[in-house]
Amino acid sequence: MDYKKLAEILFPDIKEDIAYYENEFPERKLPAGAKVTRLAPSPTGFIHLGNLYGAFVDERLAHQSGGVFMLRIEDTDEKRKVEGSVEIIISSLKYFGLNFDEGALLEGEKGSYGPYYQSNRGKIYQCVAKYLVEQGKAYPCFCTEGELEEIRKQQTEENVNPGYYGKWAKYRNLTLEEVQAHIDNNEEFVIRFRSEGTEEGTFEIEDAIRGRLSMHENFQDVVILKTNGIPTYHFAHVVDDHFMRVTHVVRGEEWLSTLPIHHDIFTTIGWELPVYCHTAHLMKMDEGAKRKLSKRKDPELGLGFYMELGYHPAAVREYLLTILNSNYEEWRMQNPDSPIEEFEFTLEKMSNSGALFDLDKLNNISKDVLLKIPAEDIYEFLLSWAEGHKTEIVNILKGNREEVIKLLSVGRSGDKPRKDLMYCSQIFEFISYYFDEYFEITDSYPENINKEEAEKLLKLYFDSYDHNDDQVQWFEKIRMIAQENGYAAKPKDYKKNPDMYKGHVGDVSSVVRLAVVGRSTSPDIWELQQIMGEEKVKSRIKKAMGN
Ligand code: GLU
Repeated sequence: MDYKKLAEILFPDIKEDIAYYENEFPERKLPAGAKVTRLAPSPTGFIHLGNLYGAFVDERLAHQSGGVFMLRIEDTDEKRKVEGSVEIIISSLKYFGLNFDEGALLEGEKGSYGPYYQSNRGKIYQCVAKYLVEQGKAYPCFCTEGELEEIRKQQTEENVNPGYYGKWAKYRNLTLEEVQAHIDNNEEFVIRFRSEGTEEGTFEIEDAIRGRLSMHENFQDVVILKTNGIPTYHFAHVVDDHFMRVTHVVRGEEWLSTLPIHHDIFTTIGWELPVYCHTAHLMKMDEGAKRKLSKRKDPELGLGFYMELGYHPAAVREYLLTILNSNYEEWRMQNPDSPIEEFEFTLEKMSNSGALFDLDKLNNISKDVLLKIPAEDIYEFLLSWAEGHKTEIVNILKGNREEVIKLLSVGRSGDKPRKDLMYCSQIFEFISYYFDEYFEITDSYPENINKEEAEKLLKLYFDSYDHNDDQVQWFEKIRMIAQENGYAAKPKDYKKNPDMYKGHVGDVSSVVRLAVVGRSTSPDIWELQQIMGEEKVKSRIKKAMGN
C-alpha cells in the first residue's frame, strides 16, 4: 500500500509537515526543572471545585519552578459550548488568586504556542493525522452506525472484548482503490489510529501522584479525527500537549482508564510523554458514606457558590491546600504567619484515593484566616462582594464605614480572639442588627423571664443608662439591677442555690442584649453599644420596653 498516496487523497489541503510545527513550536527556553502546565477546560459555563483543585496543582507546579501556567480551551464540542464561559473560567480562577501566564486570556491570546482554542488548531491535528497515515499508523474508516452496531452484536454473542480492533476492524486493511471508491461514493469517514497493541500486552508508566502503574496496553483502533475533521480528546491531548511543550499533565482520575490510548499514540509517533499527574476525585461525606461530589446534588461543587456567598479567596486557598497536600497543616502550625507561597507543594504528598471535601472545615479555616486579615480589609472585601452580589446594602456599608469596621473588630484581639466571621453573606448577617432596617429580635428571653419582667428590667436599665459609663461601671449597674431584683450577682451563686433566686446576672444582660442587638449571643454588649451610639441604644431599649 502506498501510504503516502493515501495521505494525499485524504488530506489534499495539508501542506505543512510535522517538522514545520516542530520548528514553529520549539522546545521552550526555561530554567532547568521548570514545569509547563495547562488547565484545559471545556467552555461549558460550569467551572467547579475539581477544576480549581487541579488548577491549583498546575499553578503551584509552574510557579514554584519558574515555569509556565497556561490556559487552553477545549472547545471542539460545539453542542456543549456556552457563550461567556472563557470569561467565567478566567475570572473565577483569578478570584482565587490563580493567574495564567499564557494562553486564551481575556485580553486575547498570549504566548507563542497557540492558537490556544482547540477549534482553531484544526490544521495542526490534521497534519499529525496525515503523518500517521503516511506511516501506515492511521487509516480512514467508513464504518456506518449500522455496521458498528452489527459488530457489537457479534462481539456480545462471541463473548469477546467489544470495540474496533483486529479482525473486527473491517476497514483497517483496505486497498488504495477501495478507499478511493468509498470516497468517490461520497461516504463519510473517520480517521482511526492503527494500534499495534495486543489484548494481553501490558506496559508500565510512572504517575507523579500514583507512583508506578502497570496497565493493559491499548489495542483498539480508536478514532482520532471525527467525520468533520475534528479531533477526539485523545488525539487533541497528545498533539496539543506535545506542541505546547507541556511537561506535566494534571487531570482528573477519570482519564486514567484511557491513559493506554494516550501512551500508545505518543509512543507510536515517537514523542516523549509528559509526566502524568492524575488527581483524586473530590469526595464528601454523605450520611456516613464517602461519595463523589455531584453537580446535581451539591451546590458547593460549583465555584460560583463560593463567590456568591463571599468566601475570601485566601480562605479557600488555605483550605484547598489542606486537602491537596497532607503535610500542609503541619507546616501551617509551624509557620502561622507565612504566606502560602512559601509552602513547598509536592505531588508526592497528594492523596490518590479521593480527597475529602468538608464545608464545615472550610468554614473553620475561614474563621482563622479572616482573623488575620485587618478589619479594614474585611470591610473592603465585604463592600466589593456587596457590589456584585447584594447591591441593596452597598449604600449603608458606604455610609457607615467607620462603624462597620468597628463592628467587625469587636473581640478580635487578645489571647482568645472571637472567630465570628466566615464569609460575606454570613458577615453581613452577623452585623446586620446595627442597621435599623435590618434589625429584628430573633431570639426569645431566657425561660425564667417573662415579658413583663423583661420590660421591668429594661426600664431600670434605661433609667440608669449613661452612655459615658466605662465597661466596669456599665457592668456594675447591670449587677445592681440583678441583685436588687432577686437575681444572683454571680452565676455560680445561682448554681449553688437556685431556689434563692429568679436567675442570675447573665439573664439580665441577656435581656439587654436582646433588646439592643436582637440576639441572645453577640460580642461584648458594652462595646457594641459604644459603636451604635446613645440614641440608637436608647431607642431600641425603649422599643423593647413597649413604648
Ligand atoms: N477538557 C478536558 C476536561 O475538561 C481536559 C482534561 C485534561 O486536562 O486533559 O476534562
